[in-house]
Amino acid sequence: MLYSVGFFSKICVAFVCLCGIHLIVALFFYLSESPFTKIKNYKMILTDSYILNSQSHRISDLFTNLRDNETDEIRFNETTSQKLTVLKQCPETSPRLEGPLHIEFSQRVDLEMVYKLNPQLMKGGRYKPSDCVALQKVAIIIPFRNRDEHLKYWLYYLHPILQRQQLDYGIYIVEQAGESTFNRAKLLNVGYAEALKEYDYDCFIFSDVDIIPMDDRNIYKCSSQPRHLSVSMDKFGFRLPYKHYFGGVSAMSKQQFEKINGFPNNYWGWGGEDDDIFNRLKFQGMTISRPSGEIGKCRMIRHSRDKKNEANPQRFKKISHTRQTMKTDGIRSLKYTVISIEKEKLYTKITVDIGKP
Ligand code: BGC
Repeated sequence: MLYSVGFFSKICVAFVCLCGIHLIVALFFYLSESPFTKIKNYKMILTDSYILNSQSHRISDLFTNLRDNETDEIRFNETTSQKLTVLKQCPETSPRLEGPLHIEFSQRVDLEMVYKLNPQLMKGGRYKPSDCVALQKVAIIIPFRNRDEHLKYWLYYLHPILQRQQLDYGIYIVEQAGESTFNRAKLLNVGYAEALKEYDYDCFIFSDVDIIPMDDRNIYKCSSQPRHLSVSMDKFGFRLPYKHYFGGVSAMSKQQFEKINGFPNNYWGWGGEDDDIFNRLKFQGMTISRPSGEIGKCRMIRHSRDKKNEANPQRFKKISHTRQTMKTDGIRSLKYTVISIEKEKLYTKITVDIGKP
C-alpha cells in the first residue's frame, strides 16, 4: 500500500510538472505572437504589396477593427519582409491638381522621353496610384487612324494629368484597319468591349486624339449623369458650338453606356454620331453634366480633314431616327474582328477590322 501511494504521488508530481511546462510554452508563444501574425489564421496568403493594393477594398474591410486608424502601413511578417499596405481611398478632390495648364504643339514629342517622365506607368499604358485606392477604374478609348503625331502630344500631356487626378486608368487606342471610310462611334464601341475584357472598368472616357484639356481640374471621371468634358474648345472660340453638342471628349459609366445600347455602328464618315449619342441619352431620360467653361477649356491640334473621313451626307436623316435605331443598332449588335492587340509602354493599341459601309 505504502509502495503504491508513493508511486502515484510521483506520477501526480510528474503530471503537474508537465502541465506547468505546457503552460509556460503556450504563454511564451502567445505573448510573442503579434496581432498581425494572428491574422494569418484567417487564411490570407499575402505575397506582396501589389496584390494587396489590388484587393485593398476587401482587405481594408477585414482590418477595420484591427488596424490603428493612424497607420497606413503595417509590417506583416518581418522575417520574409512581406509588406501589408492598407490603402485609404483617394480623396474626392486630388491634392495634386495644378489648375490651368500651358498647352502648345510647337515642340516635337519623343515617346521615350514621355516614358521616362512617367516612371510609374505599367505596360499597356496602365496606372493606378500607389498611395491610395482610386475612386474609379477608368478606360480611356481613342478612335484612331494615321494620327501618330497627335497621339504623341496626347500621351505627353494626358499621362501626367491623369496621374495627378489619382485615377486607376488604362489607355486604349482603337485603330481602324484598312482603307474604308472611318467610323468613330463603332471604334468607340470596340474599345469599350475590348477594355472590359481586360479589367473591371467602371468608367469610360471617349476622346478624340487631338483634344487636350487646358486645366487638370477637368477630371476624366464619370458622374451620376453622362458627362461632356470638352465644353470650351479653342476651335469653337472657347464655347459650345450648340447647346446639345456632345463631341470631342465625353465620360460614361458602364451603366449609362449599357442603358443606351452603346453607340451607333452605322455612321460612316465625319459627323452626326455624337448627336446620335446625345439623342440616345435624352431618350433614356438622362441629362448632360459639364464642367464650367473655365475648367472645361481645351485645345484641338489643327489639322486638315482626313482622307476617307469626309462629311457624311446621311447624318441629318440618321439623327432624326435615333429613337428607333438605338434599339437594334449598338453595343449589343456590334461585330468586328480584332487583328492585333499591342501592349506598348504608353498605351494598348487594338487594331480592328470593322468592315465597311
Ligand atoms: C456634327 C457633329 C460635330 C459638330 C461640331 C455637327 O454638325 O453633326 O458630329 O461634332 O457639328 O463640329
